[in-house]
Amino acid sequence: MRGDVVVVGGGPADAVAALELARSGAGVTLFERSGYGELRMGETLPPAVNPLLRALGVWDRFVASGPVPSYRTASAWGGPEVAERSFVVSPYGHGWHTDRARFDGMLADAAVEAGADVRRGIAVRRVRRVPGGFVVDADTPVRAALVIDATGRRPRIARSLGARRERLDRLVCVARVFALPAGTPPGDTFLEAVPDGWWYASPLPGGRRLLARFADARMVASAGLATEPGWAAALASAAWSASLSAGTPIGGLRVVSAASHRLTPASGPGWMAVGDAALAVDPLSSGGAAFALESGRRSRIPGRFTRNSSARRRRSTARCGARSTGGSGGSRATRSGGSARKTGG
Ligand SMILES: Cc1cc2nc3c(=O)[nH]c(=O)nc-3n(C[C@H](O)[C@H](O)[C@H](O)COP(=O)(O)OP(=O)(O)OC[C@H]3O[C@@H](n4cnc5c(N)ncnc54)[C@H](O)[C@@H]3O)c2cc1C
Repeated sequence: MRGDVVVVGGGPADAVAALELARSGAGVTLFERSGYGELRMGETLPPAVNPLLRALGVWDRFVASGPVPSYRTASAWGGPEVAERSFVVSPYGHGWHTDRARFDGMLADAAVEAGADVRRGIAVRRVRRVPGGFVVDADTPVRAALVIDATGRRPRIARSLGARRERLDRLVCVARVFALPAGTPPGDTFLEAVPDGWWYASPLPGGRRLLARFADARMVASAGLATEPGWAAALASAAWSASLSAGTPIGGLRVVSAASHRLTPASGPGWMAVGDAALAVDPLSSGGAAFALESGRRSRIPGRFTRNSSARRRRSTARCGARSTGGSGGSRATRSGGSARKTGG
């Protein structure tokens, strides 16, 4: 078992932290509770991720994962007209629409190649302080000198170590994925403001489109937006977004928190939070993944962990694991979304 650093979570901030720390010679164990098999939100990557992905050395891997280029965004925001912002003016080129589960899994694979021990499908239950570091309770206890909380918008690990999460709003997202009829162009990112929130549409790889309604939690409850009839009725009354629901729904509605928050402090003795765990902003910015990549990258601490300290740590971890498991050892281990048409109002 490896124990210099334990990263809890396998989103982009987490996988990049593991990747960079493993490259710097640290012994890194990453726990991700999922197997990257389910739909993940956060699919639109702005052009600013391009230099980051290149700097991380994962560019070829990323392009091979089949993202859809994003050339512009369009919005009907505060007025009847659709305004368009083209990435032709971006110094970084165009952006992307990804399959986020595939994207996150691709980064985790890169971390494995760099030497990190990535454990998929294993949730961390808690982190305990012990003399000289921490014990991370997952499938088997792992000792760590440094713990990185990268668990996203619910940073339970950092909070158990004394940090306070200040919620800044109660935004909720209710989303549905549609399989587009054959031959439908993927369209662009499209945003439409409505009186109590907004609609968001994004192409997804594989001829799919994500349509999402964002609103305050109270509004979601009172308008029944998290129910199929309520969501469909709200969509039907949206002037532009209604036309984007063409195709066959894949699965039901997906309801996720999109609340902004900040964590105070975002680090402490022997631990730090990265990505959304440290600071989560309104998804309207489409900047969360870029921030996550950058903050994961910055979690590398020059000189703190060397290959020698890794070996030392591995010995101590093995001892801890042996103690904790009773010596049994063994780890169980748009402009208009391309196609938005005004439908009324
Ligand atoms: C509705 C919505 C839409 C968004 N759209 C965009 C967008 O279009 N573009 C964009 O750039 N950003 C978007 N964002 C923001 C973006 O998704 C996040 O900023 C980004 O995913 C943060 O990465 P992260 O690694 O910090 O956390 P996450 O991606 O949330 O990853 C956290 C990981 O931790 C794992 N985990 C949690 N608890 C445990 C545990 N106890 N043990 C083990 N694993 C655990 C989770 O399974 C998850 O894989 C959106 C966010 C929301 C809510």
